[in-house]
Amino acid sequence: MGQKSKIEWTDATWNPTTGCTKVSAGCDHCYAHKLAHERLATLYSRQLPVVQTPENTADPFSVRLWPKRLEQPAAWRKPRIVFVNSMSDLFHADVPDAFVRQVFEVMLKVDRHIYQVLTKRPSRAVRFFRLNQDLFPAGRIPDHIWMGTSVENQEVSYRVAHLRKLPAAVRFLSCEPLLGPLDLKLGGIHWVIAGGESGDEFRPLEESWALHLRDQCRSTGTPFFFKQWGGRRSKAGGRMLGDRTWDEMPIPDRIPENVAPVAISLGGKSHRRKRARPELEGASAAA
Ligand code: SF4
Repeated sequence: MGQKSKIEWTDATWNPTTGCTKVSAGCDHCYAHKLAHERLATLYSRQLPVVQTPENTADPFSVRLWPKRLEQPAAWRKPRIVFVNSMSDLFHADVPDAFVRQVFEVMLKVDRHIYQVLTKRPSRAVRFFRLNQDLFPAGRIPDHIWMGTSVENQEVSYRVAHLRKLPAAVRFLSCEPLLGPLDLKLGGIHWVIAGGESGDEFRPLEESWALHLRDQCRSTGTPFFFKQWGGRRSKAGGRMLGDRTWDEMPIPDRIPENVAPVAISLGGKSHRRKRARPELEGASAAA
């Protein structure tokens, strides 16, 4: 089922795969893991996982493929901004290359949407691009497919260097949940999203970390999006940072030059940001 999303920086979520494995501190309170073990456990457990060990089969959060969902983007007639795999990580080792290919084939064919592919495994994304050059005859990932990686603390900032190797018009960072101060090299990065953690066990976001990241974006002309402060409830702390909200988005037409903070437009196609009632799998952002 296609999902409307309440994630502030996207319109809809699309989950052709579900399930994952925790890899770094940002995963500690992964909402996708929680949902998979709670409200989505019955649904996910009906499907066999890719790797069918007894442990994996019993675990609703092991990696599962949903081939029927490959048809969803074509069924959405109006252009949308689509967050790919909010309940998983497309570049998890258990997702076969052949299925990653199928996901890319859909994105390449149904090009009226913007797709945001966020991963904590950008080195596999680079490998996938190199090994599947036939999908990208122009030698680059088309403008409507944005590639991103998560950087929650300095320890995983090496992911930025991997991401930078991808020839994408929009390379973005999700610094959420932001767990410490970050000093980043933002050359070749076209968008930064930041936010605090939410839920009962949230780790508080310090204002100085958010301001420091915003200032790095401002000094490099990188669009900055501040999603939320976080807290027990995701909206508890609001979205103000300093004296305003930060909702900047990239404009692929002007990439790789530094971009201005305005609403999205892509090659003359309109991508209106229309909010709609969110459903379960679109509740928040993982990966
Ligand atoms: S979905 Fe994302 S946050 Fe959750 S375990 Fe996988 S990589 Fe970590």
